[in-house]
Amino acid sequence: MTKMQDIDAIVIGSGIGGLVTATQLAAKGAKVLVLERYLIPGGSAGYFERQGYRFDVGASMIFGLGQNGTTNLLTRALSSVNVSQEAIADPVQIHYHLPQGLDLKVDRIYEKFLQNLTAHFRHEEQGIRRFYDECQKVFKCLNSMDLLSLEEPRYLLRVFFQHPLACLGLAKYLPQNAGDVARRYIKDPQLLKFIDMECYCWSVVPSDMTPMINAGMVFSDRHYGGVNYPKGGVGQIAQKLVEGLEKAEGRIQYQARVTKILTEQGKAVGVQLANGKVYQAKRIVSNATRWDTFEQLLPATEMPHNEKKWQQNYQKSPSFLSLHIGVRESVLPAGTECHHILLEDWEKMTAAEGTVFVSIPTLLDPDLAPNGYHIIHAFTPHWIDDWQELSPSEYEAKKEEAAWRIIDRLEKIFPGLDAGLDYLEVGTPRTHRRFLGREDGTYGPIPRRKLWGLLNMPFNRTAISGLYCVGDSTFPGQGLNAVAFSGFACAHRIAVDLGL
Ligand SMILES: Cc1cc2nc3c(=O)[nH]c(=O)nc-3n(C[C@H](O)[C@H](O)[C@H](O)COP(=O)(O)OP(=O)(O)OC[C@H]3O[C@@H](n4cnc5c(N)ncnc54)[C@H](O)[C@@H]3O)c2cc1C
Repeated sequence: MTKMQDIDAIVIGSGIGGLVTATQLAAKGAKVLVLERYLIPGGSAGYFERQGYRFDVGASMIFGLGQNGTTNLLTRALSSVNVSQEAIADPVQIHYHLPQGLDLKVDRIYEKFLQNLTAHFRHEEQGIRRFYDECQKVFKCLNSMDLLSLEEPRYLLRVFFQHPLACLGLAKYLPQNAGDVARRYIKDPQLLKFIDMECYCWSVVPSDMTPMINAGMVFSDRHYGGVNYPKGGVGQIAQKLVEGLEKAEGRIQYQARVTKILTEQGKAVGVQLANGKVYQAKRIVSNATRWDTFEQLLPATEMPHNEKKWQQNYQKSPSFLSLHIGVRESVLPAGTECHHILLEDWEKMTAAEGTVFVSIPTLLDPDLAPNGYHIIHAFTPHWIDDWQELSPSEYEAKKEEAAWRIIDRLEKIFPGLDAGLDYLEVGTPRTHRRFLGREDGTYGPIPRRKLWGLLNMPFNRTAISGLYCVGDSTFPGQGLNAVAFSGFACAHRIAVDLGL
């Protein structure tokens, strides 16, 4: 058994949330051990290699790699442990291919984006500007202050005295949702549906359920720090964080699946691995989802009251069907952008196989594929229930049918895709569950009904003394930059608790 006095903090999982917590703590001098069940770090921001292609597992539209302000949290997390990551600027965040011929590019330059959108909705010119300008106000508040733990009163006081107006601004937006703000300025039903899609494509809920703080962040940062692709693939971010962790004398162990969080008199004191090994530490951090943490790693029958309440407010979002495709470069028309969203019927936006998300990272970093070929990662929401209780042959057949339905739809924007296919690998919600260790393969929590913005999202401390959560089941939610925020906040709170 490795004893408590040897380790300040154990972090269960090396997703970006876990790694930012670990590196921040190690940079402050804490003794940190990260336990990762898989072979490499990164979780949903990991990668895999096949036949000369390096595929991103999930994320590839990356915020937080900018150079200025305070919201560039990935850049900041890396530099805290003396590592850095080359970032390739993406000139267009998304090329939307939406119903009723709404074909539109979100340009990195704010005014150009507003012009592109206004060209489709001339009568809403003023409303469009007022809505997106209000998002910019939220962002300016966030981007003026250090983003640390909102559970730490001295930090809150300090930040309030340094930036009183920004704090009051954020407090005002905290309970609001983007849809309510949009409807104050915009009346056109199709434009409101577009705003729904603008939110859905990262929050996986329509604008009425998307917190204004998150919307303000995404809709503005894309024109400020911008969307940037990490050279070498998204997996590089986690690899670099691990390099920095080790430079700061933190440790990581792979193939170390935690099966139990150990408690003594209601306090988290250690963890047990699948191989029976036990580690103790002063603080335990779970980067697993809240469902995995409170139903698998701790006895579900003893779930704290506030976790039960949280589950009444939030549910698991669906997982995804993912197509990792290698194609001949001739398939991509000249001027093709990196990220696309495809939807033919507004009514199907949130349905399984409704919205299709596409990333072609090789347009920004050609080294991820063999010469003359590109990667297309296409994914669409799917629920695990549709993939259970199938024989191996039924499962394979179902995967193939679903993949070809998506490829047929993609043919509309990439004619010749079928003929130009070089490699195809299909992941289902079961794949996400198995390789990412996320219950039902979920993308993360979504509100069960309309809530008060971000007010119900928990911070890092839990009802169990000594146990913290980090990652997309905590404030402010999904996305690499968001979980990095959660990591900064978690490490800050633990450092104060440990007196570091
Ligand atoms: C298909 C897809 C596309 C996405 N696209 C984008 C995008 O374009 N941009 C963006 O910003 N975000 C995107 N996201 C979301 C983003 O990837 C996630 O929100 C984020 O990576 C979650 O990070 P995390 O730290 O919370 O957890 P995770 O990435 O889930 O990492 C948790 C880690 O903990 C490990 N673990 C779990 N349980 C245990 C255990 N018991 N013992 C040991 N280890 C354990 C897991 O193996 C994993 O490594 C996408 C996600 C998916 C799935």
